[in-house]
Amino acid sequence: MNYRHLGRAGIRVSELSLGSWVTFGNQADVDRAVEIMAAAYEYGVNFFDNAEVYAGGRAEEIMGEALKRLGWRRGSYLVSTKFYWGLYDNVNERNTLNRKRLIEGINGSLKRLGLEYVDIIFCHRPDPTTPIEETVWAMHNIIEWGKALYWGTSEWSAAEIVAAIEIAERHHLHKPITEQPQYNLFERQRVEKEYARLFKDYGYGATTWSPLASGLLSGKYLQGIPEGSRASLPGYEWLRDSILHPQRLEKVRALQPIATELGCTLSQLAIAWCLKNPNISTVITGASRVEQVHENMRALEVVEKLTPDVMQRIEAIFG
Ligand code: NDP
Repeated sequence: MNYRHLGRAGIRVSELSLGSWVTFGNQADVDRAVEIMAAAYEYGVNFFDNAEVYAGGRAEEIMGEALKRLGWRRGSYLVSTKFYWGLYDNVNERNTLNRKRLIEGINGSLKRLGLEYVDIIFCHRPDPTTPIEETVWAMHNIIEWGKALYWGTSEWSAAEIVAAIEIAERHHLHKPITEQPQYNLFERQRVEKEYARLFKDYGYGATTWSPLASGLLSGKYLQGIPEGSRASLPGYEWLRDSILHPQRLEKVRALQPIATELGCTLSQLAIAWCLKNPNISTVITGASRVEQVHENMRALEVVEKLTPDVMQRIEAIFG
């Protein structure tokens, strides 16, 4: 495993990390989570991503219980969580980054995770109804109280991120240090274009999500929807159209010969491709079963096979 600085921050994250969206609480109970996290940790993964909204808080409880059972030294791993959608359908608790919600949010997450602090807290989406200044102050205070160590944004526009950084600089507050954007062969615009100056001028980090576009890039959907896969789960019907999109499936099919030639799987190729981007701090992978962790972690061996010629051939399909 290689480790990359999280933007300009002193901490380093493993190039591949592990998240809990959809899986923990829906497909994986505590036993399965222990197995998945233990396998990832053995490959050198040091960053585990979560959010209060995942499985309505259950993903945090499961990760917390798994961490307790695994008994790792706290200094050896990083945990993140995120706030925005909330857990309760109430005017001040839903789709917001107001101060009250963020402070109540972190207290709830720490309880569910059974941790004294999390390493990174993210604003899971921008909230156009709360002044950015209020959110920046709340994140700063949470860090000052020792409940989190760093903070970041997820799917904010470049302009919103710059506004947050400038407010923090003006008041000498803790600045956001990293984005959490989607990044995979199908979703590139934001990371490659919109955020270009954030990486260059501000040294902003990037912990990217859905390297397999929810499993589509593994090739598993070329023959329809396998039983038990994400696209088959009740409640995830909204994902099905983008996963079963004929043009997208065509592109995945066209990628197969390149993977075969390199002696790797489609999943490994798609994950390795993300790692070729030097602005990415860590690629957050997802796994519903431990076998997927073993397969995906071996993407690290594929990165060096992605020569300029191979990258150009991939570009010809997806560019
Ligand atoms: P992926 O796009 O890599 O999808 C992971 C899913 O694909 C797995 O759960 C599994 O689903 C399937 N899969 C994984 N590996 C393989 C394999 N080798 N072969 C076949 N199928 C495979 O990542 P996620 O969408 O899960 O995102 C990763 C993490 O990013 C999340 O856990 C979360 O922490 C974070 N995230 C953040 C978001 C944000 O807004 N900030 C949004 C979304 C995710 P199955 O077995 O069920 O088919």
